[in-house]
Amino acid sequence: MTDYAFPPPNQASIGIAGSTQRFPVHRIYCVGRNFAEHALEMGAEPSKGSPVFFMKPADAVIQHEAIPYPGCTEDLHHEVELVVALGPALPAQWNAGNALQTVFGYAVGLDLTRRDLQATAKEKRLPWDTAKGFDASAPISDIVPVQQAHIDADTLLSLHVNGSQRQQACLGDMIFSITEILLALSELYVLQPGDLVFMGTPSGVAALNKGDRFHATLQGVAELRGTII
Ligand code: MN
Repeated sequence: MTDYAFPPPNQASIGIAGSTQRFPVHRIYCVGRNFAEHALEMGAEPSKGSPVFFMKPADAVIQHEAIPYPGCTEDLHHEVELVVALGPALPAQWNAGNALQTVFGYAVGLDLTRRDLQATAKEKRLPWDTAKGFDASAPISDIVPVQQAHIDADTLLSLHVNGSQRQQACLGDMIFSITEILLALSELYVLQPGDLVFMGTPSGVAALNKGDRFHATLQGVAELRGTII
């Protein structure tokens, strides 16, 4: 037993649909600008160059119904996203033939964003961390194991707020596929079991305010409901 000076923090984890086991979260990778219309609404040119990545801390995941409105912002934005969860069998050499075999399951999540801080950071060419990687910035559904999660190019990713549709797109609209994103990440990092990848959001990002109720769906696979408090 390691003799820690004080107890180490709890392992961040999320539920697994249809199981009493929990999925231990290692890291949260996020893809920026993976839908052309969202890139355009953010003032960027959609391109198939290199994907944009940033990270959230593992303990940013939250599965409570009540999601706290964060401090230091007056413009909290929703970004509904497909989340890819990596399982225990990761290859030594990643390639297009084995990348998808590493996927443990899929979930739907929100990449909550302090848009005002992000805008300031972009303007000053500073990092996005405080805009993206704050506490409770990653509400997420239970992970649905791949055996029960059938997704394809026509699968719809949607977000309703207070009953009105805010965002919707099909997965086929993603600029970079799951395989392409995993291969790009595997060159930048040593991917580990328990890694989550937020795959980027469609257009329609907008503000969430206290009292707003959201309902995110990955068609036929997963859903996530919550209230901003
Ligand atoms: Mn995002």
